[in-house]
Amino acid sequence: MHAVVLSRIGGPEELEYREVPDPELATGDVLVRVKAEGVCGRDLIDRRGGFRGLKMPVILGHEFAGEVVRVSPMVEGLSPGDRVANLLRLGCGECRACRRGETPICERGWQSFGQTRNGGYAELVAAPAATLVKIPAQVSDVEAASVACTFGVALRALRTVGRVTLGDEVLITGASGGVGMAAIQVAKALGARVLAATGSPAKHEALAEAGADEVVVHAADTSEGALHDKVRALAPCGVDVVLELTGSPTFTSSLRSLRNGGRLVLVGNILADAIKVNPGAVILFGYQILGSAGCTRADLDDAFALVAQKKLAVVIHRVLSLKDAAEAHRILADRGAIGRVILTP
Ligand SMILES: [Zn+2]
Ligand SMILES: [Zn+2]
Repeated sequence: MHAVVLSRIGGPEELEYREVPDPELATGDVLVRVKAEGVCGRDLIDRRGGFRGLKMPVILGHEFAGEVVRVSPMVEGLSPGDRVANLLRLGCGECRACRRGETPICERGWQSFGQTRNGGYAELVAAPAATLVKIPAQVSDVEAASVACTFGVALRALRTVGRVTLGDEVLITGASGGVGMAAIQVAKALGARVLAATGSPAKHEALAEAGADEVVVHAADTSEGALHDKVRALAPCGVDVVLELTGSPTFTSSLRSLRNGGRLVLVGNILADAIKVNPGAVILFGYQILGSAGCTRADLDDAFALVAQKKLAVVIHRVLSLKDAAEAHRILADRGAIGRVILTP
């Protein structure tokens, strides 16, 4: 098969499109013919060496949609021809977190597509059956490839971790990316007033069209109040929840945008930098800083149902050919994408 292989940490030029052996199936695995693969900010972090556990060489990609080709022994409920998409990670199934259904915070032995096992930048991928969900007929392959890491992640971060409820005010940073555009819709569906923040004036219109009640365009350097002063002008007491998708560049300003007792849900950290926190402010104002990664099977099932019912709409920036993976990474690095960039073999 053809795949995009990363053999060395580095720039987009390290993504090499070439012929590789077809994947082998372990017990419990399913062979999937990839029809579409989402390109995510995390792929860029992995490529640059931001994840220490990266197996090398690796086929990147943690959100694919495709068709079942073959199933290994012991697999039930999936057959050749079924349309499937994947959970980003597989929990061990046995630890306390997994037994509670909290597979994204599995305490041991978790596997992650595109990091610890080969992912979807390929014509074929071997996936444990437990990571696959069926795609509703109303959802296309290209749409399906960007549901898990956008709506699934946004549902878990806002609904489960951030506990967003009717009447809350929610600030979303880095709102024009794949997760951000999805999160605007999810937060609206949960009944929140949504403030969508971006460092790029060109994204203003797209964010308003996506349903944001307010769009906050801020300077890249947020240290002088470029973000939180604007947020407080729109929400004088501060917001109930911040969905932090940018991480270190906006974190301090996000914290200062919270109302007392507010919740900052940290999902993205695009530069993979360390973050400074003023403990006094966290203590005094009762801020809650919460991490959220990935989504559970229930989140993904819900996300697919909502997309099938047209209550959530997938936003696709561009569809490129698999061999143009490096170009896809450059588009994301330039912050040029509104919604998801998709690769098709
Ligand atoms: Zn992702
Ligand atoms: Zn586990």
